[in-house]
Amino acid sequence: MKVDVIIIGSGAAGMMCAIQAGQRGRSVVLLDHAKKLAEKIRISGGGRCNFTNINTTPENFISTNPDFCRSALARYTPQNFIGLLQKYGIGFHEKTLGQMFCDQESEAVIAMLRGECDTAGVKRFMSCAVSEVKHDGNFKVSTSREFFEAASLVIATGGLSVPKIGATPFGYHIAEQFNIPITKIKPGLVPLTFTPDVWQPYVDLAGISLETTVSFGKQSFRENILFTHRGLSGPAILQISSYWQHGEALHINLLPDCDIEALLDRQKSSKKLLGNFLAQWLPKKFADVWCTQLIQNQALNQYNDKQRKQIAAKLHDWQIVPSGTVGYNKAEVTCGGIDTRALSSKTMECSAMPGLHFIGEVVDVTGQLGGYNFQWAWASGYAAGHAV
Ligand SMILES: Cc1cc2nc3c(=O)[nH]c(=O)nc-3n(C[C@H](O)[C@H](O)[C@H](O)COP(=O)(O)OP(=O)(O)OC[C@H]3O[C@@H](n4cnc5c(N)ncnc54)[C@H](O)[C@@H]3O)c2cc1C
Repeated sequence: MKVDVIIIGSGAAGMMCAIQAGQRGRSVVLLDHAKKLAEKIRISGGGRCNFTNINTTPENFISTNPDFCRSALARYTPQNFIGLLQKYGIGFHEKTLGQMFCDQESEAVIAMLRGECDTAGVKRFMSCAVSEVKHDGNFKVSTSREFFEAASLVIATGGLSVPKIGATPFGYHIAEQFNIPITKIKPGLVPLTFTPDVWQPYVDLAGISLETTVSFGKQSFRENILFTHRGLSGPAILQISSYWQHGEALHINLLPDCDIEALLDRQKSSKKLLGNFLAQWLPKKFADVWCTQLIQNQALNQYNDKQRKQIAAKLHDWQIVPSGTVGYNKAEVTCGGIDTRALSSKTMECSAMPGLHFIGEVVDVTGQLGGYNFQWAWASGYAAGHAV
């Protein structure tokens, strides 16, 4: 089948790209090896799809080339996507921090994108395994369903997270085939783990969550952390995991709103145990374990001035070194990917291989938690869809 555009990957980015190109009158085929369209949209946001963030700025994205995302994000904004939902009468609400969720199930967003694809004349091929991609002026794609040929090929196969619903390294392999550089990849927005000896004292705290500020380098997030059997999770940990570097410590401010040194000074004659005193602000079970591990859980009048200072410093800066992450099976995204220095920020086209485009998560642009990754998928898909 000879067409204008072949798009491989019918997730968020691939569908948006197909809609735009189809609406421009281009003949488009959208291929995916999975049985069902856009499985990640289906499971996203706990089944309610956090489809964008109304506070999106380029600063919400991680990339070795931080300015790359500016152009695409400026051309397709959260309001554009909200307008599309309104056209289809799909209700939505802001949950917190600009995070926009559907009122109904994520399936509504998939049905909307499917409807837009069909109206734009996009031909969809599911359960379509790609066996080979060649280029000899045109791109030639051999698959389990058909042989396709087009002047434009868009790779929208996403990252490595959640392989059980279809993630593969296909996009990176195509980049290697055409000598397009790839930056280092790693799981992002992912729970962190600790070695069994480090974590043993905290195992019984599984299920406890507390609001903290978690920092790594210049990046800080004020949100909950959640204790698990293997380590730490919760929104603040997922956020910082995308920035965290192996072997380095996380810095956790357990009492971001308290001047705990002053409060301890005021209680320096008290016979209250430190753990009981801290239980005013922290879960008691956590306070006891933490004190026992880091300083001994004594009566407040047992500590001298220097020790109270040290306790306060540790509470405001608990340093703990993760051993790793739970990996791609549980990660929401893949950080890193196609090196943006090889792509046009306006069209997502490879400068060294005209006609070849990369969009969405396969590219080295990773959003923070909160709807930013879909916004990048829509915006990069839109940019390529207007160029192919
Ligand atoms: C559990 C979970 C929840 C999430 N929740 C949110 C959220 O609420 N908000 C948010 O912004 N982000 C969320 N994300 C991240 C978001 O889903 C992704 O960043 C986004 O889907 C990326 O879009 P994409 O189109 O680039 O890739 P994908 O949506 O991953 O689509 C890639 C497509 O390519 C196909 N494919 C892969 N390999 C091949 C191959 N070899 N041949 C043919 N087809 C192939 C796949 O089957 C898939 O359909 C979540 C992620 C996960 C895992």
